Amino acid sequence: MTIYVSHRGAEELAALRLSDAPKPTGGHCPIQLLAAVPSEECGCPEELWDLNGIIYLIHMEEDDASGEIFVFAGDWETETMVQCATIEDLRAEMFQAHAELMRHGEEQEE
Ligand SMILES: [Zn+2]
Repeated sequence: MTIYVSHRGAEELAALRLSDAPKPTGGHCPIQLLAAVPSEECGCPEELWDLNGIIYLIHMEEDDASGEIFVFAGDWETETMVQCATIEDLRAEMFQAHAELMRHGEEQEE
């Protein structure tokens, strides 16, 4: 694993750990929410994420309880539709899709 500690993480770990907490590492947070905004087309909730350098845009259609997951990975992109009730559920689907993508990538390297 890549070691990463934010300033906030160092503060929280200092409160949780008995021994000295690790110092902030600086650098790029490997998993981060880049934006949470209404869609420009329909006003639906959207979130933009960076998960290990792969960009995900999730779009929650609250009227029909469905969501879309757009994946932008540089040289390729894909789009998946899932059934889900809330943006929280859709976000969980996005993390699941990312886990499968990471697992699939590791299999290909073998
Ligand atoms: Zn929409």
